Amino acid sequence: MTTTTWLDLPADSPFGVHNLPYGVFTAPDRPGRRIGVRIGEQVLDAGAAARAAGAPSELLDLLAAETLNPLMAAGRPTWQAVRGALTEWLTDAAHRAAVEPCLLDLADVELHLPFEVADYVDFFASEHHATNLGKIFRPGSEPLTPNWKHLPIGYHGRSGTIVVSGTPVTRPHGQRKAPADAAPTFGPSRRLDIEAEVAFVVGTPSAMGSPVALADFAEHVFGVCLLNDWSARDIQAWEYVPLGPFLGKSFATSLSPWVVPLDALQHARIAPPARDVEPLPYLDDRDAEPWGLDLAIEVVLNGRTVSRPPFASMYWTAAQQLAHLTVNGASLRTGDLCASGTVSGPEPDTRGALIELTWNGEHPLKFPDGTERTFLEDGDEVTIGATAPGPGGLRVGFGEVTGRIVG
Ligand code: MN
Repeated sequence: MTTTTWLDLPADSPFGVHNLPYGVFTAPDRPGRRIGVRIGEQVLDAGAAARAAGAPSELLDLLAAETLNPLMAAGRPTWQAVRGALTEWLTDAAHRAAVEPCLLDLADVELHLPFEVADYVDFFASEHHATNLGKIFRPGSEPLTPNWKHLPIGYHGRSGTIVVSGTPVTRPHGQRKAPADAAPTFGPSRRLDIEAEVAFVVGTPSAMGSPVALADFAEHVFGVCLLNDWSARDIQAWEYVPLGPFLGKSFATSLSPWVVPLDALQHARIAPPARDVEPLPYLDDRDAEPWGLDLAIEVVLNGRTVSRPPFASMYWTAAQQLAHLTVNGASLRTGDLCASGTVSGPEPDTRGALIELTWNGEHPLKFPDGTERTFLEDGDEVTIGATAPGPGGLRVGFGEVTGRIVG
């Protein structure tokens, strides 16, 4: 069901009261970092609104914090109470006089990383992406490794270099060695790439030795963001055997500023694609409510759309990823961020990385102005956006994650 706000919003806004994503902002005339909730093209100063609306102190304390971490740690019943309160403040005309002064224009605020990232994990959950990379890197052999359909493959990344959307990305330097070269050389990456990904953030922690079951996903996960896993393919190709990604990815990872709550995505839930290998019981979601999500993603390079990856095509769901991440007894911390892996669909124009879109640089992208791209050049700007189905035919907006390459 949709609820009507007293704000003057377009009826089809992807940032209506059905969404209410959380972020953190600064504004010129308000001290400190503040939690904001996006509504239309405005930001609600959530702490100020809680005070103005006379919210109870435990809720006020969470919304007056400088990051989302305290709210994320408070757990699902509190998330639902806060979301209910926000909805009431923005829909009940009785709150209008108090709450309206707490709205700022989006253009007048600066957005920051919305939470302190604890551990960062990146998965590899698109069968199309994994197959394409297998064909490119290991021609002549089976594209998927023998483990791929038995477990969601991932690696632990570097949380300290996760940056908010809009942060410039400095081209990394490192060892590069093409297969035909006798020895590596050192210098700037010549094969700088993107990976269009969707990430979930953990709110409720878990104890060491206590795996999180598939069915408990929504008790632990606070919300969903967009992520660009910038990747230096030349550095990656030389360093990754046998321990996996390292410096080819750790120089920067960009995150969208808005966290879409899981409760805003109920209409986006779908069954994942049919699996042709029976999963082990802890990963078997065939009798559960599925956690596939029908996000429509768009990848824009220098103002032109180069791909539309469908998140619905992902083989492994976020719930399976969380179950696998903890099945060995590893604990969760508030702020743990888990990225999906590159989202690539079956069609060539739905691939989420340049290495696939250009097939390892063999087929450059050609633009109407005569320019071409294989990998990113200095000054290039990449923006990844997404929406998902919401109630009553509405869309749920994720906003975007953008970054420009500097040499
Ligand atoms: Mn990745």
